[in-house]
Amino acid sequence: MRLIFVGPPGAGKGTQCARLTSRLDIPHISTGDMFRAAVKRGTPMGVLAKKAMDAGELVGDDIVIGMVRERLGEEDVQRGFLLDGFPRTIPQAEALEQLLAELSLKLDAVILLEVPDDLIVERIVGRRSDPETGRIYHLKFDPPPPEIADRLKHRSDDTEDAVRSRLKAYHDQTAPLIPFYEQRDALRRVDGVGSMDEVTARLVDALS
Ligand code: ADP
Ligand code: ADP
Repeated sequence: MRLIFVGPPGAGKGTQCARLTSRLDIPHISTGDMFRAAVKRGTPMGVLAKKAMDAGELVGDDIVIGMVRERLGEEDVQRGFLLDGFPRTIPQAEALEQLLAELSLKLDAVILLEVPDDLIVERIVGRRSDPETGRIYHLKFDPPPPEIADRLKHRSDDTEDAVRSRLKAYHDQTAPLIPFYEQRDALRRVDGVGSMDEVTARLVDALS
């Protein structure tokens, strides 16, 4: 299955993709995770990306498209993929369409995970990740076990200020993907409000 996940920051895309990647046995490709790995390695792309990420802005289309092009050329993608956080602009969506045509691959669906803005800040500010396992927690909604509390990381762009910029970027630059994929009859809207299990059940239902 080849799926795209679209939704505002903090909608639960990463959480739900982490559940589906094992269930469907297909790779979870998160452009945000790829950029964070590049920042950690200190590569030139990582240095560029960090500036945009900390400001709550999108990284330039050319950089993102080049990175995804390379990733979709890898062997494991033959089984399918969950694209999390890409595309995020119309030029990215057009580039992906062209790339998939070149590879003779067809998308199965674009999932729009819908969560209203007023729930987003709380989700983002309480988000923590475990650097050892990559697992995402939430201080209130999905509390980590106390014995790992000390090693958890809070993303530098998960502040209230950066979230407001990221939400603006979402509405200005990413929301136009909704009519784009509606026109292609690919969009599936899934309500992202409710418990994580409820959202997973809605997703499984939307995909069946
Ligand atoms: P995204 O990848 O869309 O930015 P995440 O999956 O990282 O979002 O989720 C953002 C934060 O909200 C995380 O801390 C996660 O644990 C939490 N979260 C995810 N889904 C839900 C949900 N259904 N209810 C409450 N909190 C959630
Ligand atoms: P979230 O789901 O919480 O918004 P991500 O982890 O998907 O966060 O992305 C973090 C940051 O990485 C974004 O705010 C942006 O700066 C950058 N980024 C990730 N994916 C893209 C993309 N497709 N286009 C441009 N920038 C991106």
